[in-house]
Amino acid sequence: MKNVIEDVTCAGCCCVCDHIQVTTDGQQIIDVQTTCPQGQAWFAQSRQTEKQQPLIKGIDASREAAIARAAGLIQEAQSPLLCGMGQSAVDAQRAAISLADLTGATIDSGASAATRALQQVGEANCTLGEVRSRADLIIYWNAENLRFNAHHQQSLVPPGEPVPRKIVTVGSELPGDSRGVDLSLTVSVEDEFEILWRLRALLKGVALEGTTAGELASLAALMQQSSYIVIFFGPASPDERLFHRKLEALSLLAREIQAERRCHTINVPAAGATKGAEPVLAWQTGYAAAVNFAAGYPRFSPCEYSTVKMLEQGEADLCLLIGEDPLTGLSDQAIQRLQQIPLIHVGPVPLVDLQPEVYIPTGISGIHAAGSLYRFDGTPLPLRALISTQQASEAEILNQIETLLKPVMHIC
Ligand code: SF4
Repeated sequence: MKNVIEDVTCAGCCCVCDHIQVTTDGQQIIDVQTTCPQGQAWFAQSRQTEKQQPLIKGIDASREAAIARAAGLIQEAQSPLLCGMGQSAVDAQRAAISLADLTGATIDSGASAATRALQQVGEANCTLGEVRSRADLIIYWNAENLRFNAHHQQSLVPPGEPVPRKIVTVGSELPGDSRGVDLSLTVSVEDEFEILWRLRALLKGVALEGTTAGELASLAALMQQSSYIVIFFGPASPDERLFHRKLEALSLLAREIQAERRCHTINVPAAGATKGAEPVLAWQTGYAAAVNFAAGYPRFSPCEYSTVKMLEQGEADLCLLIGEDPLTGLSDQAIQRLQQIPLIHVGPVPLVDLQPEVYIPTGISGIHAAGSLYRFDGTPLPLRALISTQQASEAEILNQIETLLKPVMHIC
């Protein structure tokens, strides 16, 4: 029998659209009403997960045996690392933090640059609802993926009277299509930090010279004519080591603008990624990334405890990868290290390039399991279970591993 479900949430990217109509026959999803190809692909994954089997060293195993082997490996490790969780639901992220706490592990959401900036200078952000209703100047700074996302643009259309609004794009490789854009500034990745500081100077009335002085002056003038500015700031480029300095400069710029008018910043994850575990890590441990529990309490040190640092410096002797695409954002050196240590993967889709010692398949939160997920503006949205599955959820698997480890860890 057909079952039409309205207002379903899609976790296919950071926008987390929550107005999608899905039709199921009770066992399978048979129709998804969205024009977004990425959203269609996200719902279509459900056909793959059902076929996945737990594996130990690449050989089929029972789920119980795989969970027991994973628990045994974690117990033997001196310095386990938990990472990934990019598209995991909140309950899975909480279960991962609890497991890291029990085992004295390091856990990282992959957002150590944003967290460093946040710890240094704070940030002022707002919800997309505020952007939709109030923003009269929106700046997409290295966030072209978001600017071209039709669902994001739709989400910024207010229900009543349209808000008069200017649009600015800033980036190193701006596409030719600048429809609806009032001002475009081409800025190389290396120059972004300087440009943010030059913009601060211009807004303070300091005269500047240089190649971009004219365009920057136009941007500063637009800012001074606006009453509510929102800057969507894109993710770091691969191997960009000082990205946190840019985020600090951005937050300082927003703080100064706020003396005269409203200005908020919203960090945009990489294309296809969701906000990740930062909000949950922050309210559970006090830090949004790079947290170590070895001392029995949470410690934050992005130079030591980020996933990339832990792997590149050979500090982790076991890695538990959680969720879909857990290798996103890792350097080649970090991935090489993953090939040298025991690996456990808990997630709906097996890894392509690495064979973990233990793989435990899961259902997908938002398709097979209910829960919640943070949108990129920090708003939590509910996920619903649409169809049944034989697979357990990520949270259930992590809780079962913790249950096996609890008596052993208490004896230690
Ligand atoms: S824009 Fe993102 S969240 Fe919305 S339907 Fe597409 S993939 Fe899903």
